[in-house]
Amino acid sequence: MTNSHAARGIDTSRPHSARMYDYYLGGKDHFEVDKQAAETVATAYPGIFVCARENRAFMHRATRVLAREHGIRQWLDIGTGIPTEPNLHQVAQSVVPEARVVYADNDPLVLKYAERLMRSTPQGRTTYIEADVNAPETLLGAPELAEVLDLSRPVALSLNALMHFVTDAQDPYGIVSRLLDALPSGSALALSHCTPDFDPQTWEKVTAIYTGAGTPVQFRAQKDVARFFDGLELLDPGISVGHRWRPDAGDGNGNTTANEPLTDARVSLWVGVGIKP
Ligand code: SAH
Repeated sequence: MTNSHAARGIDTSRPHSARMYDYYLGGKDHFEVDKQAAETVATAYPGIFVCARENRAFMHRATRVLAREHGIRQWLDIGTGIPTEPNLHQVAQSVVPEARVVYADNDPLVLKYAERLMRSTPQGRTTYIEADVNAPETLLGAPELAEVLDLSRPVALSLNALMHFVTDAQDPYGIVSRLLDALPSGSALALSHCTPDFDPQTWEKVTAIYTGAGTPVQFRAQKDVARFFDGLELLDPGISVGHRWRPDAGDGNGNTTANEPLTDARVSLWVGVGIKP
């Protein structure tokens, strides 16, 4: 670990989920140790690259649908990851230039690149906070959040590829409902979550690789992902495999992986969008 990384609290001696994900997406913001761990996952589950890209593509479509059809103008995106273009605010602001987005992640490396998340339109606004989803009240109470989001108006809570890093022992359903409790009627939850449903043996291996690398994970079945939406009105087509959720809402600009054979097992991602009544 170099001194400058150590000074920022960035551990380059162990693989980290955000940097492994950057590798799956073809980014450059990872270290050798992350590449090695990501390649081990890819050996067990070659679909991981498609899964990561389809996850991103779902975020683009869900953001567009919420902006266009549900009047959403504000987003709280937790577990943002290392910036990858287009980032959520760029998608949202391409529909509504005045969109406001608060990004949050608990990885110090994401903070290092956060300035890329601040390139807002002049009409809109974005900010980044270093925060842990396991402490939702602290996250919601961050002064920077209050400067950007008006919690008396609808907010879309975006939890993409995040909740599988929160095990049942950490009360994932309680965390999501505490976050939603703070948001008014008309707010939304957009969530994606890896699943073992289509290929349990492979996902057992993936679980062992992450857990062995010091990152506990819990990939969940469809009914357990559906529980995150309890009390919300699910938008059509309900809890779906990533590439099957509103494929019409793409912008035809590289955010689907249509040249790859997309099967449910390769994508292995449950996604959904719900509105708070
Ligand atoms: N949401 C992005 C990135 C997903 S990768 C996308 O879907 O494209 C998962 C991200 O969640 C990583 O950046 C990781 O650092 C972050 N993360 C994991 N556990 C977290 C926690 N407890 N609190 C906040 N962020 C967390």
